[in-house]
Amino acid sequence: MSIFLCTACGTSYPDAPGPPERCLICEDERQYVPASGQSWTSRDKLSDGHRNAWQQLEPGLLGVQTVPAFAINQRAFLLRTPQGNILWDCIALLDPATEEVVRGLGGVRAIAVSHPHYYTTMQDWADAFGATVHLNGADRGWVMRPHPSIRFWDGESLELLPGATLIRGGGHFPGGTVLHWAGAADGEGVLMAGDIVQVAPGARRVSFMWSYPNMMPLPAAEVRQVAARLAPLRYERIYGAFMGQDVRREGSAIVARSAARYVELLEGGLPR
Ligand SMILES: [Zn+2]
Ligand SMILES: [Zn+2]
Repeated sequence: MSIFLCTACGTSYPDAPGPPERCLICEDERQYVPASGQSWTSRDKLSDGHRNAWQQLEPGLLGVQTVPAFAINQRAFLLRTPQGNILWDCIALLDPATEEVVRGLGGVRAIAVSHPHYYTTMQDWADAFGATVHLNGADRGWVMRPHPSIRFWDGESLELLPGATLIRGGGHFPGGTVLHWAGAADGEGVLMAGDIVQVAPGARRVSFMWSYPNMMPLPAAEVRQVAARLAPLRYERIYGAFMGQDVRREGSAIVARSAARYVELLEGGLPR
């Protein structure tokens, strides 16, 4: 018996003697099955050839990413708060070194994942640190490996810990979630964006897509709704899903401006 991981998206599937026939996450039009076909690895094989690399992004916030790149190659984050640590988003590799490092930093009190593409091995991270996983209930059908640590929240927001609030942005997934960290060290506010708000190169624009790999846009009405849900929040910095996607200032203004421009283009405005 083994926990198998899809090599294209990193999703883990329930303990079984052999890999599943299909990855439902990759067969959805928001992901893709590689041209070479579906392939699988196991947690043990993954840790044989990969390591996790850490980066301090600002006081109290660390990013962690697997090297060499695995699956979608997103990063996860450890937010350190006086009430305990939050793991925001998830990566498939949880090796003994990572476990030891995170334990040394105080462990994990709560896990929240922006959307199903990053669910990966959240079940194992929860087991290792005795943490609860908070997922928006609108995406419950995309959990491929049910687990007692998973708790679904419904509605528009959930305060995870004081100063750290989950907001349902929707868009890319109906339950697509961002984390607003008003309690960041300098008090200026941080948006942890996942794929719900995608930070563009140059860090002065963001985008919103239905499918990133297949380059399929969100309808204008959806973009308006995502922007409206985020409009009450104030934040300077935005941390996107991938290493280097860091907006350093004017985050909330950049999101509002980028959404307005996107809608203008979708509705027929010519580039100017
Ligand atoms: Zn997959
Ligand atoms: Zn995604």
